[in-house]
Amino acid sequence: MKRKGILIVVSGFSGAGKGTLMKKLVQEYDNYALSISMTTRAPREGEEDGREYYFVSREQFETAIVQDKLVEYANYLDNYYGTPVEYVEKKLTEGKDVVLEIEIQGALEVKHKFPSALLLFVMPPSIAELKQRLEQRGTESRENIEKRLSRAREEAAGIENYEYIVINDDLDQCVRQLHSIITAAHAAPARNRDLIKKMREELE
Ligand code: 5GP
Repeated sequence: MKRKGILIVVSGFSGAGKGTLMKKLVQEYDNYALSISMTTRAPREGEEDGREYYFVSREQFETAIVQDKLVEYANYLDNYYGTPVEYVEKKLTEGKDVVLEIEIQGALEVKHKFPSALLLFVMPPSIAELKQRLEQRGTESRENIEKRLSRAREEAAGIENYEYIVINDDLDQCVRQLHSIITAAHAAPARNRDLIKKMREELE
């Protein structure tokens, strides 16, 4: 029986290093597909349309909502962010594990719609380190950093909704740990309903 892909949701405070982690995970292992979100936020320096995000207007985003083209969407610091449904469905059908790097509201929406989705939370080694990373990134204004930290406080309240926490201290080690968790999660009965059903039928 062909191995079925699962939905993997990765959240974490802004500055925890999720983006770098996910890029590395996809590079190192070939069973993952990284979903590219749609957003109304302006591109940061160095970001490209269709690589980090699909950068769209509010109007385009709202049309996508009405046309049911998003798996989930949320508002983050006054901008829309959402996951296009088409890519997710295509890759899952191909048997890939699809990674969504999204914030907590979207994560909970995905879990509600797809109970077998795996929810992972990436933590920085410390909050001091988180602040330092946000400042060193140099892409956000002071005001924006404060807003991101305040949002982190809200997100911290929801961590227990996630199945596993990984600490992004050493990048390579963290990528290996993520891959091990995902590999183990594939073996859960809740993610193997078809296999279980088939075995039971054969037993009859
Ligand atoms: P940033 O502006 O730093 O790229 O992203 C801000 C937050 O939005 C991050 O927590 C990121 O994970 C989240 N995000 C990115 N894409 C999506 C999406 O498609 N849906 C949701 N719900 N959140 C997203």
